[in-house]
Amino acid sequence: MRLTVLGRSPARPNPGEACAGYVLEGGNSRILMDVGPGVVAQLLRRNTPDELDAVVISHMHTDHCLDLVTLRYSYPWIDVAKHRLTVIVPPGSMGQLSELALGSGYANFFDKSFIFVEHDGKRPIEVGDLRLEPEEMQHYVRTWGFRITAKGPGEEANRVLAYSADSGPCEALPRLADEADLFLCEAALRSLREDDPEPQSRGHLLPHEAAETALIAGARSLLLTHIPMQDGGAWALEEARAVYDGTVEIAEPLRTYEV
Ligand SMILES: [Zn+2]
Repeated sequence: MRLTVLGRSPARPNPGEACAGYVLEGGNSRILMDVGPGVVAQLLRRNTPDELDAVVISHMHTDHCLDLVTLRYSYPWIDVAKHRLTVIVPPGSMGQLSELALGSGYANFFDKSFIFVEHDGKRPIEVGDLRLEPEEMQHYVRTWGFRITAKGPGEEANRVLAYSADSGPCEALPRLADEADLFLCEAALRSLREDDPEPQSRGHLLPHEAAETALIAGARSLLLTHIPMQDGGAWALEEARAVYDGTVEIAEPLRTYEV
């Protein structure tokens, strides 16, 4: 599999960078995972929307889905798209999509371009050669991370990419990242003051918490994302490397990582 980072920003974007968005390629399939503000402009540097087999949204916070509107505008606007793009959304989110469409001024804004499908939060999602197992995370709204594998010859079929989406510390996180080859994990916090004070209501991670999860899960490498870069990333890497001895990097926009 190949993972290309389109955006690594948290909700408040890093200057000149997109929010959450990743292209994932495996076998003959390609998906866009999350579509935060700024992601489509980055996507169009490498792919047109009709080169995607599906879009998958982890949760309905705007920093993960707002650019669905922009993706619609990058389809033929007057003409009908050759094929409608499947957009896989969390359970119970259809109402929010209607509101997003209304915000554009047209109730049927998405209809000619997209087919929305809600996953059920439990069963694996199959998109061509890619398989995504949803795992519910702990966030301020219902959010699913994904354990992703691709059909392929021999070794390739055993490779695992785990994506945390947004999550506070929870039991599901090490399960999600269990022996993953690459753990793409959020590290949105610079201090605990930025999160809910109650442990059961937390919604994000400090870099060392992402690293502790990688360590407990036996993940082979850790890629920190959804990370504030205003003051550079060196402190986050230092914090993570102090507890985890696998490979740790900060997700680099427009860089492709082999899984
Ligand atoms: Zn987010």
